[in-house]
Amino acid sequence: MKTQIPSPDAYQEIREAVRDLCARFDARYWQEVDAAAGYPEAFVDALTQAGWLAAMIPAEYGGSGLGLAEASVVLEEVNFAGGNAGSVHGQMYNMGTLLRHGSEAQKRKYLPDIAAGKLRLQSMAVTEPTTGTDTTQLKTMAVLKGDRWVVQGQKVWISRIQHSDLMILLARTTPLSEVQRRSEGMSIFVVDLHEAIGRGMEVRPIRNMVNHETNEVFFDGLEIPHENLIGEAGRGFKYILDGLNAERTLIAAECIGDAYWFANKSRAYANERVVFGRPIGQNQGVQFPIAEAFIETEAANLMRWKACTLFDAGQPCGGEANMAKYLAAKASWEAANVCLQTHGGFGFAHEYDVERKFRETRLYQVAPISTNLILSYVAEHLLGLPRSF
Ligand SMILES: Cc1cc2nc3c(=O)[nH]c(=O)nc-3n(C[C@H](O)[C@H](O)[C@H](O)COP(=O)(O)OP(=O)(O)OC[C@H]3O[C@@H](n4cnc5c(N)ncnc54)[C@H](O)[C@@H]3O)c2cc1C
Repeated sequence: MKTQIPSPDAYQEIREAVRDLCARFDARYWQEVDAAAGYPEAFVDALTQAGWLAAMIPAEYGGSGLGLAEASVVLEEVNFAGGNAGSVHGQMYNMGTLLRHGSEAQKRKYLPDIAAGKLRLQSMAVTEPTTGTDTTQLKTMAVLKGDRWVVQGQKVWISRIQHSDLMILLARTTPLSEVQRRSEGMSIFVVDLHEAIGRGMEVRPIRNMVNHETNEVFFDGLEIPHENLIGEAGRGFKYILDGLNAERTLIAAECIGDAYWFANKSRAYANERVVFGRPIGQNQGVQFPIAEAFIETEAANLMRWKACTLFDAGQPCGGEANMAKYLAAKASWEAANVCLQTHGGFGFAHEYDVERKFRETRLYQVAPISTNLILSYVAEHLLGLPRSF
């Protein structure tokens, strides 16, 4: 086989180490977790203990101080190995919010324990049922009473709460009617989930198409100590936006991992499955879609590397991060479709993993940001077209 999938790059040592770890969690492991609608605890523990989830935490707080490029390779490899990095990716980018905007005391309090695997910061609560993508309209309100913020409101689709210790919460702290710009007047807090659940915070799981633990959340008088406010009150939306480039690029890398997995799986099956006396992959109708999916994955990967390089050099990379997410999510979804088609009926059988990965990768067309919103970002910010909403 001439083409190595993924193509060799500068991160082979990380790839090999993560591959070795992932090899302990084979297809059967992921099938069982999926069938039980469970959380891959043993895998997450292993990844944490090996230090990979602390890749981007600076060494002074106990992490490895690696860049976005290296972190993205970790998540890509998890998905390329047939796993689902959706179970862990939150920690990589949520931690960045604390790192960039938290006080020194907050960073000392949380980051070393996150790096050591004693605490999980897997959740971030932004989306609300009645506002959707229009975050500035969110209605969850936090009001300062003495030295505590009291929260009322509701969130939806908040992932991994039941497998996290901490959650970052975005809430309005100044009513919309009192701010000059709708992006002002929101704040972010770090919420200790063990203290919050059952004391003003209720969590209801949402059954969904993917095995992805996600929830409705209700706040009714939840009290958060003032010291848990991250950064300045009123600037929370800006802080969240600040973390999006890393989030978009990491998700892009997961999609790249998926896309290569689908390409690999497709080519293997197309070579081995014999119908009408020849491998199905000998038919152009079968091989061209696989080739096309592979080409699109390689192209998306270039944009992912461009985003990583700019981000790690401290350069603006909003356009590249968004375009990488767009291209990679599209490539992985197309590769998934091709893989299912290549497998014919067997693609629908759980034991082939194709239908599971197909469901998993479909999510990235919608979350954490939908494809249309990326197109709208590119239209407005890169092409100078009028804002459409
Ligand atoms: C499994 C899962 C896990 C999630 N985890 C989290 C989480 O941990 N934390 C969190 O805060 N959120 C989470 N989300 C929410 C996710 O970020 C949102 O679903 C996503 O941002 C889209 O918002 P929405 O569902 O409200 O869609 P809407 O905003 O209602 O949009 C619906 C459709 O309309 C389109 N649309 C809307 N406005 C426009 C426009 N102006 N122009 C063109 N098209 C438009 C959108 O592209 C979309 O296709 C999760 C979602 C899922 C499904």
